[in-house]
Amino acid sequence: MALTAIDIYKLLPKTNCRECGQSTCLAFAMQIAAGKASIDLCPPASEEAREKLSAAAAPPLPKVTIGTGEREVVLGDETVLFRHEKTFYHPTAIAVSMRDDASDEEFASRLAAIRRLSFERVGQPISVDLVALRCASGDPGRYARAAAAALEATGLSLVLLAQTGPLAAAVEAAAPSRPLLAPPPEDLVPAAKLAAERKLPLRVRARGIEGLSVALADARAAGASSLVADPSPETPREAVSFATNLRRLAILSRNRALAYPSAFDLGGGFPDPFLAAALLVAKYGSLLVLDSADPADLLPLLTLRQNLFTDPQRPIQVEPGVYPIGAPSESSPVLITTNFSLTYFTVRGDAEAAKVPAHLLVADVDGMSVLTAWAAGKFTGESISKMLAECGIGETVTHRTLILPGMVARLSGRIEELSGWRVLVGPQESSALPSYLRRLPPGAFLSVHG
Ligand code: SF4
Repeated sequence: MALTAIDIYKLLPKTNCRECGQSTCLAFAMQIAAGKASIDLCPPASEEAREKLSAAAAPPLPKVTIGTGEREVVLGDETVLFRHEKTFYHPTAIAVSMRDDASDEEFASRLAAIRRLSFERVGQPISVDLVALRCASGDPGRYARAAAAALEATGLSLVLLAQTGPLAAAVEAAAPSRPLLAPPPEDLVPAAKLAAERKLPLRVRARGIEGLSVALADARAAGASSLVADPSPETPREAVSFATNLRRLAILSRNRALAYPSAFDLGGGFPDPFLAAALLVAKYGSLLVLDSADPADLLPLLTLRQNLFTDPQRPIQVEPGVYPIGAPSESSPVLITTNFSLTYFTVRGDAEAAKVPAHLLVADVDGMSVLTAWAAGKFTGESISKMLAECGIGETVTHRTLILPGMVARLSGRIEELSGWRVLVGPQESSALPSYLRRLPPGAFLSVHG
């Protein structure tokens, strides 16, 4: 369990010398307990105190990195069980598998399919993270060549699912790219020695939590330290149960022997792999291997992951300002929305679908949606009037008519009073914008200059 301020205080010198910048040792202990200071700031601290406090400060779920540089994928390093307690830092990594025994043509086409699994949503890139290379040929040379080709063609890091011989050959070809070694359970010890020697991460696979407890100890005894735990479930239900138990053991029980990021191979005939994947994205899967490279399977999963791993305390925002829809002119409609990314991209998409050129004002409301911003007092008659006066739209268009989201129709009177602009109340839902914009009567945006 985490140390309390009193536990920490008992380990400090208790001289109140102030070298740490705090007026008393107790005040410093409270800073450490809150995660705001480190024992390194107390020069007189004993070695015992340093050791104990450094161990206590280590994240309950250790960090494991696969790949290097731009390809780096981080697993684990989480500190809480629920997102609302703080935040989650590292999204579930998704690997798409391929086999080394495919024909040259199939191999190239599979690589091309994996490269295409990259999308943009609400202004952010979302894509699969890794290629999981299954050794089906049993041929070390062929496997090593396939690993090098996958690395080069996709720009993604590798999960090497292979027996010791091919694994060693692929490591020779790909070690600097820091692949994850994923041997079958019977090859654990030689693969663990290889991982220790090359300082590479290792996936340890065994049946259930008890099986993992033994296998992880074997891997550590062989010298491997950067470990990922695969409890080898047989059903989606079992997968979620194992993942949840592993995470609870790490975060709540601080069981260091089982505290590792989790991995799940959902390929090779695993039942309902995308049901399991969706559940594991929500509940504690650190790495998933999937056999499908179909965008229809992957895009919903990546979307779910993006939604769950976005920190609600830091909404995704777009830059406030005036955005053109199509090629608007001085007599084009002027719409307004807020700078919450999901709101902006939804409104923008719907406005573009209308094929009516327009100016879209995006108000700075700290990344809130329209109704939330209104309820928080950030999207008001005053703030909208101020934006109309300051954003330059008055010089861009010759009319003075603003289309307001229907959900905040009540602001129209105040805006007209403060800004002198006429307000048209738009639809309640953005999805109705195309028909709304197309039905606007001719002359709705006549010049104020006559
Ligand atoms: Fe206490 Fe150490 Fe701070 Fe001195 S430096 S006041 S001994 S905690």
